[in-house]
Amino acid sequence: MKIAIVRERTEGETRVAATPETVTRFIALGATVAIEAGAGEAARFTDAAYKEAGAEIAPTPAAALAGADIVLTVRRPGAALLQGIAKGALVVGGMDPYGHEGEIAALGKAGATVIAMEFMPRITRAQVMDILSSQANLAGYQGVIDAAVNFDRAFPMMMTAAGTVRPAKAFVMGAGVAGLQAIATAKRLGAIVSATDVRPAAKEQVESLGAKFIAVEDEEFKQAETAAGYAKPMSAGYQAKQAALTAEHIAKQDIVITTALIPGRPAPKLVTAAMVKSMVPGSVIVDLAAERGGNVESTLPGQVITTPNGVTVIGYTNVPGRLATSASQLYARNLYAFIETLFDKKTKAFAVNWDDELVKATLLTKDGAVVHPNLVAAASAAAPAAKAAPVQGELLAAATPAKKPATPKAAKPAADAAAGEAPAKAAKPKAPPKPRAPKAAKPTPPKTGASE
Ligand code: NAD
Repeated sequence: MKIAIVRERTEGETRVAATPETVTRFIALGATVAIEAGAGEAARFTDAAYKEAGAEIAPTPAAALAGADIVLTVRRPGAALLQGIAKGALVVGGMDPYGHEGEIAALGKAGATVIAMEFMPRITRAQVMDILSSQANLAGYQGVIDAAVNFDRAFPMMMTAAGTVRPAKAFVMGAGVAGLQAIATAKRLGAIVSATDVRPAAKEQVESLGAKFIAVEDEEFKQAETAAGYAKPMSAGYQAKQAALTAEHIAKQDIVITTALIPGRPAPKLVTAAMVKSMVPGSVIVDLAAERGGNVESTLPGQVITTPNGVTVIGYTNVPGRLATSASQLYARNLYAFIETLFDKKTKAFAVNWDDELVKATLLTKDGAVVHPNLVAAASAAAPAAKAAPVQGELLAAATPAKKPATPKAAKPAADAAAGEAPAKAAKPKAPPKPRAPKAAKPTPPKTGASE
């Protein structure tokens, strides 16, 4: 039983799908592990550490992949990379399948049995395998850190001999996994925090963290949650009421962190250019939904811009990749927890139970064909012209706006089936490499893009 890990090819991706810790655990399960040289470098896991954990360091991806039964990845690999893998090898990772059905079909044709970790059902048994949560949690934390770095003032109230510094006011939009962590982080830094969400269950969670809940709590709000705990798209009427409430609130905020997502759909636009314009110079908006098109009209995915009225709008698209070590550690443990279920505990034999609900929900391709019900139709429409996996190179930290806004890759609407509710949100970040954003330029008019 051989497990292979290759270096991530997506530009700017800093994470790695296995750490020395999970390598040790895979070996204890009875597997051998081959890892391409340098695969963990950007997440600060050295080849020497993998070797010490018992992995073979392979000089090329082909050498790592030769004869592998399981391939672990962060992002969907290109089919070309996997040419020559053993027929039926499991390829497990964040596959970002919606809108990329052709690429998934090509992986199937290359012989891969593809597992999309973002389709993992949110049931108790699978919590430990939930890559959406592990990565969103870190993104929520990092979003606040990025806001603080770009903010010209202090977060906490400070009473000094020279006078009092008032605390920053932070508003978190979307109180799911990322939003709740953003609330907790902003509170720890001393900000006065408020938050909104369309799911009624979020109210208590927000308040339990000591933040104020701001929302239009009408009849529609009371029904705004699916059985799986996700938000439903809201009516135009609700959105208008919510926008009016939000507009009034945002004008008084220093920091806005947006995290609102609806599975399988483009991110809802919650912050208009007029709202951005209402904020005082020096305010900072972090759009954690940038990868799915953004919650903020002014966001340029992958970039940091400053609007003419001096508001910094941060649209990084691989926020977990900005904490590559922590993100890889959690992600690798998510993968380990899933792979472990494929091994017979007594005999240590690798035997996939195709009837297991976790396998059924996450399996995209088998025996050369796309099998996931949410993808079959689109995959056959996309065939045979499967394009190569897109290079998701995003800029880092450009403090000036790009000439052309990157086109957000909106996920296609997914069927509302339980398994399909797993959004394409997860791992698709395009990582701004490690170096942090330079502090956003002082209020200078953007050359383009800031939609004001
Ligand atoms: P998500 O990433 O899909 O969305 C982020 C948040 O945006 C959600 O809270 C959503 O309600 C909110 N949102 C959507 N549209 C909005 C709008 N117009 N205005 C304001 N907010 C809007 O969600 P998530 O972080 O994955 O979490 C969804 C739920 O699932 C949460 O309740 C979370 O606690 C729960 N969860 C359960 C498990 C489990 O294993 N049972 C695991 C993880 C998360």
